[in-house]
Amino acid sequence: MHPYRGRTAALGTKHGKERAIAPPLARRLGLSVTVAAFDTDMLGTFTGEVERPGTPRETVLLKARRGAETARVPIGIASEGSFGPHPSLPWLPCGQELLAFVDLESGLRVVESRISLRTTHGQTTARDLDAAGAFLRRIGFPRQAVIVRPNLGDGPLLKGVAEPAAVAAAIRDAAAASGDGTARIEVDMRAHLNPVRMGEIRRLAARLAKRLATPCPACGRPGFGGDGPVPGLPCGWCGTPTAAPLGERWTCPSCGHGEVRTRPDRPSVADPGQCGECNP
Ligand SMILES: [Zn+2]
Ligand SMILES: [Zn+2]
Repeated sequence: MHPYRGRTAALGTKHGKERAIAPPLARRLGLSVTVAAFDTDMLGTFTGEVERPGTPRETVLLKARRGAETARVPIGIASEGSFGPHPSLPWLPCGQELLAFVDLESGLRVVESRISLRTTHGQTTARDLDAAGAFLRRIGFPRQAVIVRPNLGDGPLLKGVAEPAAVAAAIRDAAAASGDGTARIEVDMRAHLNPVRMGEIRRLAARLAKRLATPCPACGRPGFGGDGPVPGLPCGWCGTPTAAPLGERWTCPSCGHGEVRTRPDRPSVADPGQCGECNP
């Protein structure tokens, strides 16, 4: 029987993330999720009104812990999104979603993350609805909501705008209040208004559930799983290790046991084009 069967985890969210996170945990582990009523905005908001403490990973772990403490249960879960340039390909915009699980009794801490190029974050400035039309179509408005505010100076900041009539009025008002006569229109990244993020969170929750269902081969505690690719696939001509992935590193967050796991469907040698010796 899984150690989390019949237990309850607290999830700190105001944004309906339980819809994405609860089902895989219930199905796979028998762990149920309760929403912890605390203001996650205290830990930073996407619109920059509150500065975020530390790295996204520190923030998501802190949020999971706060959720558990607020709901007075030992298990906490939290998700966190950050948006900006891709870590290794800085010209590509991307989104990173993190999902943290903390067990305050056993000390288990797991953070699953995903980088997605599908995220639709972005912004534009416009004087009126017509000028914002191309941007709104690209991000999938009105299925995707926006934030509207004056481009320069203080003024009305409207979040969660998802109606064509409301967006026209919001752009007009913000443009009128702005020092340069334009409104700034941004994608609203809050999960319940952002279908792309909700899909990413659902995939992460499935991965977290799978990981928690996997015991460590060394210590038997839950949470053994993949932490990313390990480079070193040998070149097909000369055998030199290349940057191509050899496999995935699996680690235990409790005892630190690690293994490199390879997949039989992956190539066993790298293309010489990726080799620093054969193709400098
Ligand atoms: Zn272990
Ligand atoms: Zn080579």
